This record gives sequence, C-alpha cells and structure tokens, in this order.
Amino acid sequence: MGWAVASSAPSLTKRERAMVTWASVVPDVDGLGIVAERLTQNSAHPLNWWSNYHHVLGHNLGFALVVWTVAAIFARQKIKSTLLVLFSFHLHLLADVIGARGPDGDQWPIPYLLPFSKQWQLTWSGQWALNAWQNFVITAALIAIAVALARRRGFSPLEMLSPKVDSVFVGALRARFR
Ligand SMILES: [Zn+2]
Repeated sequence: MGWAVASSAPSLTKRERAMVTWASVVPDVDGLGIVAERLTQNSAHPLNWWSNYHHVLGHNLGFALVVWTVAAIFARQKIKSTLLVLFSFHLHLLADVIGARGPDGDQWPIPYLLPFSKQWQLTWSGQWALNAWQNFVITAALIAIAVALARRRGFSPLEMLSPKVDSVFVGALRARFR
C-alpha cells in the first residue's frame, strides 16, 4: 500500500519513496513486544507488551507526528514527501480499522488521539478479519500494480533492499513481459 502511495508521485527520490513506503508499515513496530511476551509468558513476571501495546503505541496521532518529523528532516521535497508519509501512515490505520479483526474476534480499537487524549477508540462494526478474502484481493491487486510499475519505470520495492537485486528483477520482468 505504501509503495502504491509512493508511486503516485513520480518526482520522489529513492529515499523519499522509501520513507513513504515505510510509513505504511511503521505503526506495527508496536507489535514487536510479541517477542518479549512469548519469551516471558511462563515466567514469574510475564511482560504483556504485545497485549498491552500493540495497536496502541504506534497507532496514534502522536506517533504520526514523530514519523512526520523524521520524514521532514530527511526529505528533500519536504511538503510533498511529508504529506505522502502522513497519508501512507493513516492508510495503515484505516486498513486496521476496516480489515484487521483478530482471530478471537477482537477489534483492536485504535486510540487515535493518544498521547493527547484517550477519548477516541476507533472501530468499525463492518470490520472484516485479518485473513479475510478482501485482504487477499487487495494484496494481490497491490502486488500486480507494483509489478506493472516496475516493468514500466525500471525499479521496484526491491530497490530498498539492494539496487542489484532490483535491476535483476526488473530485467527478468522486462524479458518475460515485452
Ligand atoms: Zn497496524
């Protein structure tokens, strides 16, 4: 999703594309507590970092401002890049609200106004499950878009990992789909 957003502005630099793309993933850093939680679940002092903080710490306005600030520091085209970063970040939150119901039926409400207020706990009654068909369709469509763009423009999300791997991938794509 973030790559599709980043691709909407052809003038972005490679670094700016990476920031816009990562902005759509970064809210879930608050899910890394799952490692500590799993490791300590049978100990005398279990750490419930995942249960307590996932969809809380990174899924709010305060964290959006942190991400925006980092992007503003490192982007060259500051207005365009940071607006797209914010958009990408909020698409993640929107996607969580509409299509990320947990296997136990938990809706994982988004406390959007944190750390300024606990007032809002965003949920949607029509929310579908994380593994529902809608998410597979959306994912397949986004991958197809990324592949089509890579063939046309000569770079793909792999550029964030390795320029060499990226050029091999694009070369193979172009050879396959002339
Ligand atoms: Zn999330």
